[in-house]
Amino acid sequence: MKALVLEQQDGLTLASLREISTEQLPAGNVTVDVNWSSINYKDALAVTGKGKIIRDFPMVPGIDFAGTVSASEDPRYQVGQNVLLTGWGVGETHWGGLAEQARVNGDWLVPLPSGLDQRKAMVIGTAGFTAMLCVMALEDGGITPESGEILVTGASGGVGSAAVALLHALGYQVCAVSGRQQNAEYLLSLGANFVIERDSFSDAPRPLEKQRWGGAIDVVGGDMLAKIIAQMDYGSTVAACGLAGGYKLPTTVMPFILRNVRLQGVDSVMTPPARRAQAWKRLAEILPESFYQLATTEISLADVPKTAESLLNNKVTGRVIVKTR
Ligand code: NDP
Repeated sequence: MKALVLEQQDGLTLASLREISTEQLPAGNVTVDVNWSSINYKDALAVTGKGKIIRDFPMVPGIDFAGTVSASEDPRYQVGQNVLLTGWGVGETHWGGLAEQARVNGDWLVPLPSGLDQRKAMVIGTAGFTAMLCVMALEDGGITPESGEILVTGASGGVGSAAVALLHALGYQVCAVSGRQQNAEYLLSLGANFVIERDSFSDAPRPLEKQRWGGAIDVVGGDMLAKIIAQMDYGSTVAACGLAGGYKLPTTVMPFILRNVRLQGVDSVMTPPARRAQAWKRLAEILPESFYQLATTEISLADVPKTAESLLNNKVTGRVIVKTR
């Protein structure tokens, strides 16, 4: 079977498409014929070697996949069953989805929810799943469509595109932030009510600024997240899941202690199974057909290395899915 294999030579990560045998797959109680995987920010860091995602080489990357069970020692999964996987360190510490087959622990799998096929599941992928968890974090903070406009940063990326589509479908007013003016039409088609330029958040934040946002989903971190926190309405929630603009957070306690702002971190990798199942069920129900049409670029395994470079250079819009066979 074909797999994208990462190796390290003289400190550089090299990616090549290889023929490997099923016997070489890592230990696990379920083997899956992978039909679709995708390229998330973390995959791009891993494949290019620009982030320290992988420590043990050789590694098959791919932090998510959808496929059909081909062998199972787990009574919950039968041969022929459609499944998906995101997270749990797959594609980081355990061989992942950018291959024709994967062998994993059955605990990590999610049965494909009704309403989704395998391709759609990977248009959503880790990015869309994370966007749903961010929306659920806003809901947990008591944020409703009546709470005011919801800001989404990195809006034309994978998490951002799905967040815009989900929030719009749930009746929220969505303000999308993008560094790419040329993507304004795309973001309005996904359901954004307004599009603001990334540059308008570039001034250093004062501890408290004019209140503007009922909620926010942030994939950028760094100075931009600090600026957003200073602009949040009284009693609002920010769901922070990313670091596309940096991992530091130069903020003050003022918005938290004077405006009751909640900063909720969101992790998709170790999300417990019950919340996972709930998020996937909601994704299948909420996302409109137009999201899958507007947000998808399809590539093959051989295209992964150059697409990973493009993604890190901020040249990819929406989601990239990989047809693995
Ligand atoms: P994408 O590359 O698809 O999207 C990121 C978007 O952020 C870009 O499209 C761009 O949007 C914007 N952006 C890029 N660089 C910068 C910058 N320097 N400053 C400000 N904005 C920038 O990545 P994903 O959507 O897959 O992931 C986004 C982030 O979320 C990543 O940091 C990723 O690691 C994180 N993530 C976290 C997860 C978790 O479990 N916590 C799970 C999934 C992702 P535009 O051009 O429109 O401005």
